[in-house]
Amino acid sequence: MVEGARRLPMAPYHGGMLLLVDLDGVVYRGPEPVPGIAGVLAERVAGGDTVLYCTNNSSRHRSEYVQHLEELGAPVRPDWIFTSARATALELAASEPPTRVVMVLGARGLVRELRDAGLRTVPPTPRGLAADPDAVVVGIDRRLTYQRLAVAMQAIREGARFIATNRDPVYPTADGLVPGAGSMVAALETAARRPPDLVVGKPGPTLFEAAARSVGRDPADAVVVGDGALTDIAAANRVGARSVLMLTGVTSRAEAESLPPERRPTLIATDAAELRSALAGLEAEQAAR
Ligand SMILES: [Mg+2]
Repeated sequence: MVEGARRLPMAPYHGGMLLLVDLDGVVYRGPEPVPGIAGVLAERVAGGDTVLYCTNNSSRHRSEYVQHLEELGAPVRPDWIFTSARATALELAASEPPTRVVMVLGARGLVRELRDAGLRTVPPTPRGLAADPDAVVVGIDRRLTYQRLAVAMQAIREGARFIATNRDPVYPTADGLVPGAGSMVAALETAARRPPDLVVGKPGPTLFEAAARSVGRDPADAVVVGDGALTDIAAANRVGARSVLMLTGVTSRAEAESLPPERRPTLIATDAAELRSALAGLEAEQAAR
């Protein structure tokens, strides 16, 4: 360095991996944390990685996840949460031609995400139909009635785009399996006699694309961490991302090992310690490229 020359500031470090992390079955299982996972994610963020949580859940606003994840010791900010509700809202807000009025067959968290993105929402009622919605968005709707379904069908038949937050047929609760958003999508698909124009959640690519785009990254550079071979890993392979399948949730080792090669994860981990070494290995491989 030339004597007296001003020391230039260090260029910002743009390395670090983009981790797209599923929630249920990875960070927690229902109310119980998966031991050690929050700590591994905190280490990764401290080391410069970006963590975005990607869940097919369409019923909650992102703010509802923050407190729970903080209590578990996981690194989190509201904008690090990508539910299928939020990704749907961001997609519609950026759509061409513009989407203005959205009819929502879904939960209040979905309505809130759509409004946060600047969209006007209307309920599936005759009055909502009179607002001439550009799109009908379908998520899990615990207030589903024949009347709500009938109005949503009519809006689609009158030309509104048909957008599904996800197609999960069922999901697990403490009381066993219950119908998921996909069951509502199927009912509307049958009634409207056409499939959705867009399905945002996993195994499709849109949720991961929206998350990666929010931090200016390419989803193909991400590492997906998930417990669902048919959802998380399928979506990772769709966008060309590397993946770690966690055996802490819905997929067994036997199921993982019976997948055809093109549907397999990059690595499999049984617990937090194995996730830590899997991510270290993927980081070393990335640095060597
Ligand atoms: Mg999961």
